[in-house]
Amino acid sequence: MSKIVVVPGSFDPITNGHLDIIKRAAKVFGQVNVVIMHNSSKNYLFSVDERMDLIKQVTQSIPNVKIETSSGLMIDYAEKVGAVAVVRGLRAVTDFEYEMQITSMNRVLDENIETFFIMTNNQYSFLSSSIVKEVAQYGGDISELVPVQVEEALKKKFAK
Ligand code: ADP
Repeated sequence: MSKIVVVPGSFDPITNGHLDIIKRAAKVFGQVNVVIMHNSSKNYLFSVDERMDLIKQVTQSIPNVKIETSSGLMIDYAEKVGAVAVVRGLRAVTDFEYEMQITSMNRVLDENIETFFIMTNNQYSFLSSSIVKEVAQYGGDISELVPVQVEEALKKKFAK
């Protein structure tokens, strides 16, 4: 049976940085479940359905990727689908402390689920969904930062 890993995130919206992590995880592991975590107290630009639709479009050429959503604890989702590990991306030392906290907590919740980190591609080390939204809002060029479908979706959002 192929091993399942979870790549969790808000993906509001998915960027080339996320996509790079998903593609690299899909080369190493049998199945990659990208899970859109949503929290009712957070404000998102894109609805869960919109985020799901964008991720589907930009990952359709990767056969071992599945996209799901969850509003509970990520580790509960990972247990439910029988995942062996969680995969996260690391951009800079600033990510480290936060990721260390989450990883330690997840280990307390379920010590059998490992967390693996994939170091970002240098060209995406400054890239986040927030920065993309900020630049897109003011009409800046984001074509190098997100897939074309996401660029179009952001243009539509901010044209309203
Ligand atoms: P969260 O709200 O959990 O931080 P994000 O959607 O921002 O969710 O990120 C999901 C995952 O993708 C996290 O592991 C994050 O570190 C990683 N990630 C985000 N942007 C990049 C990037 N530019 N390069 C590598 N990993 C990234």
